[in-house]
Amino acid sequence: AGRRLEGKTVLITGASSGIGRSTAFEFARTAPNSGLKLVLTARRIDALRQIAADISKETEGNVKVHVVQLDVSDSTAVRGFVAALPVEFSDIHILINNAGLVRGVAKAPEIAELDIEIMFQTNVTGLINMTQAILPIFQARGSQGGEGDIINIGSIAGREPYVGGSIYCATKAAVRTFTESLRKELIATRIRVIGIDPGQVETEFSVVRFYGDKSKADAVYAYALPISSLILGCEPLKPEDVAEVIVFAATRRQNVVIADTLILPSHQG
Ligand code: NDP
Repeated sequence: AGRRLEGKTVLITGASSGIGRSTAFEFARTAPNSGLKLVLTARRIDALRQIAADISKETEGNVKVHVVQLDVSDSTAVRGFVAALPVEFSDIHILINNAGLVRGVAKAPEIAELDIEIMFQTNVTGLINMTQAILPIFQARGSQGGEGDIINIGSIAGREPYVGGSIYCATKAAVRTFTESLRKELIATRIRVIGIDPGQVETEFSVVRFYGDKSKADAVYAYALPISSLILGCEPLKPEDVAEVIVFAATRRQNVVIADTLILPSHQG
């Protein structure tokens, strides 16, 4: 699989923690000596710098890493970021649209306007911003209308909406339908469009970041999740589990598209 990443440049959004961070390591470990380059973006630049240093150490400098502080919801910043990529990192082959967030659990009438705006701006508009900014690089490559991979991270929430999650679920349903439309639009090219929808994953996203601590998170799940058929207290996925699937999808033979994947812990239905 590593050979298929030879000389490629991978761009990961939301690479400062969780699934994005694990995906960066998974790519580096899959192709440590093949000229692979990584472009890692998120808002927390210090975390990105640490990840870059760790990958560089692990691969003895063979995987080159470029980190950029970027808020995907800022379309001007996204375009500026692409225009300012150093030549060495500008030939992006694989885009992982992973940046995303949830802002609490609340029934629809109680959701603050700002939370609605931030969730849509990040999870949907941000993903579209990045896709629009990178597509011209893909379209300029090769002779068949373009070449490259776009991997969009959705969620089971886009398929199994739950109580208290109406906005987050709506953003992830939007990711899913955007991904499917884009795949159809690009069907005559060699640009692969890949959708990966994880179930519950143990990351800062689900536990620490938005709910404060584990017991608060469990209380939130107890309220929200019976509808989405998760057995409370079941072992969630690890970010590495999702990272492995992302790298698997990116390293299939060119003619194979892992179009639409749901990856769940075994007790989530
Ligand atoms: P994390 O919170 O660990 O990671 C989210 C990443 O997105 C962080 O690196 C964060 O970095 C980045 N991010 C958030 N907002 C922005 C923004 N405006 N601009 C740029 N980067 C941003 O959680 P996960 O790893 O779990 O989440 C990754 C993806 O997986 C998300 O899209 C999430 O919706 C999805 N997902 C998660 C599941 C779970 O149970 N954990 C289940 C299904 C899907 P920073 O704050 O530094 O900007």
